[in-house]
Amino acid sequence: MPLIRLVDAYSNLGGLGADGANSFIRQSAGLQWEDLGFWADWLVVDYRPNNPESEVDMPEAGQICDPARPITMMRRMGRKHVRWEMMLLPGESAEDMARPEKVWSLLDRWVKPSDGMLERAAVYTFRSGVANQWTKGNVILAGDAAHLMPPFLGQGLCSGLRDALSLGWRLDLILSGSATNELLQSYEEERKVHVTTVIERAVALGKVVCITDPIEASKRDAAILSGTAPAIPAFPKLVNGVLHREDDGCLATPAGELAVQGYISSNGKETRLDDATGGGWHVISLDEPADRDLALAQRRVASALGMQFITLGADGGSFADVGNAHRAFMKERGVVALIVRPDFYIFAGVKSVVEVPALLDELGARLCLLPARQDEGGASNKVSYLRT
Ligand SMILES: Cc1cc2nc3c(=O)[nH]c(=O)nc-3n(C[C@H](O)[C@H](O)[C@H](O)COP(=O)(O)OP(=O)(O)OC[C@H]3O[C@@H](n4cnc5c(N)ncnc54)[C@H](O)[C@@H]3O)c2cc1C
Repeated sequence: MPLIRLVDAYSNLGGLGADGANSFIRQSAGLQWEDLGFWADWLVVDYRPNNPESEVDMPEAGQICDPARPITMMRRMGRKHVRWEMMLLPGESAEDMARPEKVWSLLDRWVKPSDGMLERAAVYTFRSGVANQWTKGNVILAGDAAHLMPPFLGQGLCSGLRDALSLGWRLDLILSGSATNELLQSYEEERKVHVTTVIERAVALGKVVCITDPIEASKRDAAILSGTAPAIPAFPKLVNGVLHREDDGCLATPAGELAVQGYISSNGKETRLDDATGGGWHVISLDEPADRDLALAQRRVASALGMQFITLGADGGSFADVGNAHRAFMKERGVVALIVRPDFYIFAGVKSVVEVPALLDELGARLCLLPARQDEGGASNKVSYLRT
């Protein structure tokens, strides 16, 4: 995957600290860590049934909020594994809990040793924290090296993937000589705030799951069953960084949201949008092309980014919006075109395609694009138009 090659290339020049929770690179660079206050020891068990066709009698995925022993379970981890995660109670030791006899006794209500084998039984300390600073000189942190959260929202690796995507397109521009190192500042600005919000939510959920006091647990259960428990908040958007803002500094909706991933088609051939664009910068518009009135300078920005222009639903030569996912998304937000980043976050939405040229000017400035590079070799050599 090109992203990995880019990251490797940068690692040779400096240090990309994607080396996990105990990051050697983070510690060597003297980047400080902020503990966000949650920890709990959990036993993680992976089990493989002798008969791969057999199903353990349990939900597909579930959380048992039993104060006597909070348990998470997943009937299918990949094709073959079943996973249980069980919280350690006060006084229990990691060594004792991971003993096979102990593990089988904990699994007794679901499976027996004659049914299958234990592939893993290990105690993990679920923690929460974030690096205070994510970049220092040529050192950059990503993944668990930059942030840790308990797994209750299933967002640890997902957050690391968001870091990799966010970093990937920035390093691409810097290493190809199109943008200056300043662009990396917005990596930390964007990702740290976003992931801190995700960590806070994972910790809040963990506090609900990990209750061991029977009275507190019955209050929690009553609130959930009566519908009076607080609603789960919407997943956070990006709020900082390379995003279009109104003149008053407020984020211009839908900037910072994830763009929709639907199907498009031409000549009866359907494809996912990101397969069609290859996942790079793109402008997707309804009924009218968004690149019609671009001046030379704006074409140069589009060219430096390898931006693709996709028109949905207009007459000849455009794409059909299969299932209407893109049209519905834009309609709901009152826009007719979206400028979308390679990490699928929306830089800006527009009410009319005539706004696109000014937004490309703004984007060029925000990305710290180098003027010399923008001037190189003709305006539209890298701009592409997704055509049928
Ligand atoms: C029980 C449990 C359940 C989880 N469930 C989920 C989930 O459902 N969804 C989710 O999104 N996340 C989940 N996570 C979190 C997820 O596993 C991590 O967030 C993710 O693995 C972090 O990836 P990473 O690449 O940043 O770090 P790691 O996976 O720790 O990888 C770091 C790599 O760097 C290598 N390394 C370290 N030091 C050096 C060195 N000096 N030189 C060379 N190599 C080095 C290590 O060997 C390792 O291969 C869970 C975690 C746990 C413990």
